[in-house]
Amino acid sequence: MENSFYDFAGELERLKQQSLYRSRRIIDGPQDVMLSVDGRQVVNFCSNDYLGLANHPEVIAAFKNGVDRYGVGSGSAHLICGHSSAHHALEEELAAFTGRERALLFSTGYMANMGVISALLGRGDCVLEDRLNHASLLDGGLLSGARFKRYRHADSDDLQTKLAGCDTKIMVVSDGVFSMDGDLAPLPELSRLASQYQAGLLIDDAHGFGVLGATGGGIVQHFGLTPQEVPMLMGTLGKAFGTFGAFVAGSEALIEMLIQKARTYVFTTALPAAVAEATRASLRLLQQESWRRDKLQRLIRRFRDGARQQGLQLMDSFTAIQPVLIGDSERAVAASNRLLEQGFWVSAIRPPTVPAGTARLRITFSANHTETQVDALLEALAKVLI
Ligand SMILES: *Cc1c(COP(=O)(O)O)cnc(C)c1O
Repeated sequence: MENSFYDFAGELERLKQQSLYRSRRIIDGPQDVMLSVDGRQVVNFCSNDYLGLANHPEVIAAFKNGVDRYGVGSGSAHLICGHSSAHHALEEELAAFTGRERALLFSTGYMANMGVISALLGRGDCVLEDRLNHASLLDGGLLSGARFKRYRHADSDDLQTKLAGCDTKIMVVSDGVFSMDGDLAPLPELSRLASQYQAGLLIDDAHGFGVLGATGGGIVQHFGLTPQEVPMLMGTLGKAFGTFGAFVAGSEALIEMLIQKARTYVFTTALPAAVAEATRASLRLLQQESWRRDKLQRLIRRFRDGARQQGLQLMDSFTAIQPVLIGDSERAVAASNRLLEQGFWVSAIRPPTVPAGTARLRITFSANHTETQVDALLEALAKVLI
């Protein structure tokens, strides 16, 4: 007898008809501003490698040395026998970088967010999240079993109303830089409200680290806030750091709590020590070479000026994430395909990643782009979006 469980064809067809079907393109060679895809060289405007460190010779050398010293696999979870001196040194350096007592490595950002929220909240508690938060923060909130409320995007008045409606343990959770819009959370207000209501505050600065702040310290440095004002700070290593993994930084007691209770920390294999060694190199470059941030800002301004002249619908962002709002999913996908034909890789972002009717081209910049490449992209956008 046929097993109807496996009848996926109808659902897949429906996704295709709604222009919501997702597929992968295969690249060859390193992650950089020029990518080889389907045997063709295209300019990459969709990577999160904002500082161009994923393929940096010093980061590669540190990785290779790490492999020579530690091998490839880490063998087990951190709490068994997988926590190497490379991991430990990176944690100490990330703690110093963020000005906090401790930092804890997680194998991915998704796992860090799921782990932190579910470790610190449970049934009967309350989690308040910006409605545009990254999926991993939303999933972490749901996994925790706490009462789950979303407040309007970057709206501290709405947050205050929802805070006033909770009379239990509360955690406020937000992206620092919003991943699909590029705008910032109103961090000073979030911090003030969290402390007024004695709520925890978790900020995920996946897209702020390396890009914002004089030494790449991210949104907290950008706003000049103290560690006490933003007690739980999460970052990913696969974006501006150019490597892989994630971390949470905070007080000694917070990190010890997470080591005991975060299931996505306890029950998973430690990331390879060589990745930690590579990240130590990228952390040095990220802090010291501020020309990468300066260049990125110049490229972003150049793009925004040009895009405004063309009447493109930009968003309220000065970060490396510069979406052009299209609206309709089919149009966004068509524009992305036509850009690729012209040699520019820009991804179309559709629901459910973004709200219905707000499909967009998500253009991201890297310090390794040239002004010529930015100008060429603007020309191609003009052709494609008429
Ligand atoms: C990318 C991202 C994550 C997930 O990090 P990974 O290391 O890729 O799992 C979490 N939060 C935000 C805001 C992100 O952009």
